[in-house]
Amino acid sequence: MSIAVIYTDLDGTLLDHHTYSFEAALETVHALRDRGIPIVPCTSKTRAETAELMNAAELSGPMIVENGAAIWVPNDWGLSRPTGAEDTSEAWCHSFGPSRSMIRRQLAILNVEWGNRYQSLCDLSDKQVMAITGLDAESAARAKDRHYCETLVWLGTPADRAAFADQVEALDLRCLQGARFVHVLGAGGKGAAVSWLHQKIRAELPDFADAVSISAGDADNDIEMLEVTDLALLIRSPVHEPPAPKRAGGLVISDSFGPTGWAEGMEALIARVEEEDRGRLLSKRHDHNAA
Ligand SMILES: [Mg+2]
Repeated sequence: MSIAVIYTDLDGTLLDHHTYSFEAALETVHALRDRGIPIVPCTSKTRAETAELMNAAELSGPMIVENGAAIWVPNDWGLSRPTGAEDTSEAWCHSFGPSRSMIRRQLAILNVEWGNRYQSLCDLSDKQVMAITGLDAESAARAKDRHYCETLVWLGTPADRAAFADQVEALDLRCLQGARFVHVLGAGGKGAAVSWLHQKIRAELPDFADAVSISAGDADNDIEMLEVTDLALLIRSPVHEPPAPKRAGGLVISDSFGPTGWAEGMEALIARVEEEDRGRLLSKRHDHNAA
């Protein structure tokens, strides 16, 4: 039986905002993995970037990529493949909206008014992406390998960005603000993707029938995810104010930034889940003895 599934943002959450290192959280990550608690990245990163990071952290399993526009699930996880899902020999992909090229075509309508205030990340050279993000050349190329979400470098003011977002939404697209970029997707989002996957895991994998969902994030594009899970961990950021998810309870705010805050907060939340699980088992036993 597994007691929980963790859905976590990467940049600024499991990874340090500046250095992209997960070193400070690695011991906790491995301890959780070894206890059978899956850690599912839920990120604006691409599949190529996320796979590389999961490899480096010695993690395997599903991943939610490009801001929740798509989910990749390894075939050996035993989840049924939805009809219409793209697949490879190792994994299948469920996407919630149209492809990036379709999104680009729709965004072109706004080019006359806004075209000088943003640049598509995928149109930049690897060198330019390296300069903006601090990534190395290979990582910059992986960051541009986008299929389900158009990621923009915003050149205008924040007020401009809000007006642009309104117009994007009038086109029936979603416009999300990450810590570095603006993301435009057709449908889905981190909250919708986490709900979809967690429901499927609980319904189809008997070991996870009672697993609680725990999310971790640091920015505005994490709010929906932080609102839909059973428990949530808000990670403080060195570069922006914490977002304000609306929850009745079950929210922990980290004292430390990035992966240090992730490890502290996640250990506290898992201890809470284990405590509740023990309580539930004890009361079950008590009911059984009384009967
Ligand atoms: Mg983040």
